[in-house]
Amino acid sequence: MSNKKISEDSIIDAAQLLRKGAKMLSYYCPECKFPLFEADNKIFCPNCEREVKIEKKAEIAVDSGEKEREKIDEKFRLLDEKLQSAISKVCDLILNASSAEEVRILSESLEKLVSILEKIKKP
Ligand SMILES: [Zn+2]
Repeated sequence: MSNKKISEDSIIDAAQLLRKGAKMLSYYCPECKFPLFEADNKIFCPNCEREVKIEKKAEIAVDSGEKEREKIDEKFRLLDEKLQSAISKVCDLILNASSAEEVRILSESLEKLVSILEKIKKP
């Protein structure tokens, strides 16, 4: 099985695949060492004429890392929105405050909210 010869037909097939828009990968068939091709999200060996499952460990790791970062970004975005609306509410309360004491307390809250917002905006 592992000494399968690469036939001329396979090379012609490969050339035709490339012409059809298939992508030649930097991976090789575990059976015959023929370069693997990718088309329609499928990776296959034109020499063995079968789909090949390869483990792209490094790429998968990068993908999940990116998704994790997206999740964090999304959380920060929501937090940012909430903080901004809280800040504008506190501002409204300050404008409508009926006593100096109320303004003082609200201003303190406002300061805290603004500093949190600044903190999360820092990269
Ligand atoms: Zn093969």
